[in-house]
Amino acid sequence: VKAKTKAAKEVGIDVIDHHLKESTNQNDLITLINQLNNNDDVNSILVQLPLPKVINEEMVLNSILPEKDADGFHPLNVGKLSISPKNDDNLMIPCTPYGCLLLLRELNINLSGKNAVVIGRSNIVGKPMAQILLKESCTVTTVHSKTNNIKSICRNADILISAIGKPEFVNKDWVKEGAIVVDVGINRISTNEEKSQLVGDVQFNEVKNIVSAITPVPGGVGPMTIACLLRNTIIAFKKSKKI
Ligand code: NAP
Repeated sequence: VKAKTKAAKEVGIDVIDHHLKESTNQNDLITLINQLNNNDDVNSILVQLPLPKVINEEMVLNSILPEKDADGFHPLNVGKLSISPKNDDNLMIPCTPYGCLLLLRELNINLSGKNAVVIGRSNIVGKPMAQILLKESCTVTTVHSKTNNIKSICRNADILISAIGKPEFVNKDWVKEGAIVVDVGINRISTNEEKSQLVGDVQFNEVKNIVSAITPVPGGVGPMTIACLLRNTIIAFKKSKKI
């Protein structure tokens, strides 16, 4: 949240941080969202997930006006992502998978026809990632904790996106030589000196030697997520001002 606030301020977006008490209930939260929905000075709203278990996440996300939905998690935006044409630049797209696409585009390769495997099927990363890659005409396979022969499916991937949340779970045996690997995972592990360190889902040091490109953790997908959050906010602002 700190990094998001800092990045927004850097580009001239005003941020109002509602840091709520632990005792906040669902009604209080939705009331606040409604106030922000009705405030013309607020163009974009983000509810930082995960929410406490007593609060129904779906109801909260649904209460954000779709046109102010900075994360792109409202069902209308989820639906638009799946049915709109490829080059619709006005969509509120979930920030992390869109950031992954922008990273892939930087490689200047033709994504069409590539075999893409997405590990993870969460609403915030895995599912929208698969939709986005499908729009790029990749042949997309989504794998998850119940998938059989997951390693061999991953070994077939030209593009492997990992969004599991398990430290260094994907090793070189999962990855085809020359593949492109995007590591979404952010996992904190303890090191020998009683310190902790951030690592991804992928064994970076081992995998980097056989792939054509791989994102590091930290410093790979994370900053792209923040950049795409700013992008969505700008889109929301422009739409509200009819620019
Ligand atoms: P999530 O909701 O916990 O989903 C994890 C997914 O991984 C689930 O679909 C799960 O399968 C699958 N999975 C778990 N164990 C598996 C296994 N052994 N084999 C295959 N699939 C397995 O997590 P998330 O919110 O998508 O986040 C995933 C990771 O990305 C986390 O580390 C998170 O911190 C990170 N993240 C990073 C950013 C960023 O900006 N870089 C943004 C968002 C998330 P089932 O559905 O079958 O349980």
